[in-house]
Amino acid sequence: MHAADPDRHDADAPMFAADAFRLTDSQAELIGKARRFGKRVLAPRAAEHDRNATFPIENFRDMHGEGLLSICIPRSEGGGGADFQTYCLAAAELGRYCGATALSWNMHVCSTLWSGPLADDLPMSAEERAGHETRRHKHYRRILDDGAIYAQPFSEGGAAAAGTVAFGTEARPVDGGFVVSGKKIFASLSGAADYYGILCTERSGDDAASRRNTLYLAVPAKAAGVSVVGDWDPLGMRGTVSRTLLLKDVFVAEDEMLMPHGVYFQAATRWPHMFLTLSPTYMGLAQAAYDFTVAYLRGEMPGTPPVKRRMFPTKQIAVAEMRVTLEQTKALWFQAITEARANPTKEQVLRAYAAQHTVMENANAIAAKAIRTCGGQAMLKSLALERIYRDSRCGSLMLPWTAEICLDRLGRETLYEPGEKDE
Ligand SMILES: Cc1cc2nc3c(=O)[nH]c(=O)nc-3n(C[C@H](O)[C@H](O)[C@H](O)COP(=O)(O)OP(=O)(O)OC[C@H]3O[C@@H](n4cnc5c(N)ncnc54)[C@H](O)[C@@H]3O)c2cc1C
Repeated sequence: MHAADPDRHDADAPMFAADAFRLTDSQAELIGKARRFGKRVLAPRAAEHDRNATFPIENFRDMHGEGLLSICIPRSEGGGGADFQTYCLAAAELGRYCGATALSWNMHVCSTLWSGPLADDLPMSAEERAGHETRRHKHYRRILDDGAIYAQPFSEGGAAAAGTVAFGTEARPVDGGFVVSGKKIFASLSGAADYYGILCTERSGDDAASRRNTLYLAVPAKAAGVSVVGDWDPLGMRGTVSRTLLLKDVFVAEDEMLMPHGVYFQAATRWPHMFLTLSPTYMGLAQAAYDFTVAYLRGEMPGTPPVKRRMFPTKQIAVAEMRVTLEQTKALWFQAITEARANPTKEQVLRAYAAQHTVMENANAIAAKAIRTCGGQAMLKSLALERIYRDSRCGSLMLPWTAEICLDRLGRETLYEPGEKDE
């Protein structure tokens, strides 16, 4: 009935129109593919995975068929060739339809984005680069040929994931590889991933643990000594199934290094926008809460009676305020993802913190206002809004750039130049 109405609000229009945001045809094609996939495949499955806190493995199988698992693998290797900005825009489109899938997909894609276009920007000797390219080729083939899924469990419950101390998970060099032991909390895709892309500290002998010796390793899920423990029954992002990962004397071969020795530390220092990759999901959720509100107030929300509520001035003002917040958020975020690069200026880094903070806080603020504005019937579990509201609350908690840490760094790094101290 609604589909035939030419005046109906298009709740599935691109978030960032290609001409308005000066995107190339190939970017628009990849981003459009993600949007159509999100609407057709992710949206109908999202409620069930949220209700049962189950991982949407069939979404990942379907993403393999669509080429979305390999979106950031270079074209020369057979992937989609998406750069940082293209990836972020595609991820935001997925986030509109299923936050949990978009967030878990981010963990997977980062294993290719960070080892791919991002690592290409970092200094390495010719020998290191050749070794890296041989190793990553193997990871890419697993994804392209077999649909292998990579997780990204970094968090340990202490300060390491916040970026201030060395990871407690350790890799001891042995013949042909490493023996890895440690514990990772909130391991999204736990039990579903084929490889866990973990960060750990490489230590030989009695050397003190140092962040400079952080290693990024793909640990096969089937390796002896890997186990997933604990339950998963959180407020939001329930489909991410982020349980606890235990690693006990796990042998990991040397060619499972996703970056050469010392390069992760270089990346975290020189390519700080790498930590902005958790924001696109929440940018998509902000858009989804707004789109829901417009469709609902117009009486066009599928699954609800066609009752219009748009004629009340208070509703119109609320929508206007939501639009202002959404446009501010999108503008700042688009600028930040567009200027992601190696060795950004101080201004660009400060803007990235501001963008991350803004997206994570505003996604939830827009969702909260959507519930207040649409009213009681809109927050029933038969509709997507209450899930969007719960999912959006999780954004501010994502280390290393939690909303608090972004504010903390913004203030300090604005007022102090590197090395400056007070008497
Ligand atoms: C749905 C969901 C999915 C997730 N998926 C993953 C995943 O796949 N991989 C992953 O690695 N993590 C994941 N996380 C974890 C997330 O990034 C955080 O690590 C986690 O929420 C931290 O929980 P905590 O209670 O230990 O946090 P907190 O106690 O807030 O932080 C942990 C530590 O960080 C430091 N810290 C915190 N705040 C500050 C501050 N303001 N200033 C200085 N230091 C600070 C402190 O040392 C603190 O003890 C996920 C989280 C959620 C909610």
